Amino acid sequence: MNESLIKVPTTIRRSRNRHDQRWILELRCPFCGHIHVHGGGPSDHPPLLGARVPHCEADADYELISIEEGVNLDGVAVEDRRTA
Ligand SMILES: [Zn+2]
Repeated sequence: MNESLIKVPTTIRRSRNRHDQRWILELRCPFCGHIHVHGGGPSDHPPLLGARVPHCEADADYELISIEEGVNLDGVAVEDRRTA
C-alpha cells in the first residue's frame, strides 16, 4: 500500500508554544488544494516526515518530504493559512 504514495513538499517549522515544542509540518494538499498541518513530533528530535493520512476526504495517503528535497510550492505562500 505504501508503494506509490504521492510525495508532498512540506514546510517544517517549530511550534511557537514554548511549553509544547513540536515540529509543525505544513503542506498544500495535492488532493483538495488546501493547506494541511500535521504534527512532526517533539522539536528536540528530528522532524518525523513520511506517510500521513490527509485531513480531508481524499481516499489515498501521501508522503511528506522536506521542502528542500522536493520542488518548491510554485509560489504558494506558506503564510496562507486558509485551513478550510
Ligand atoms: Zn486535502
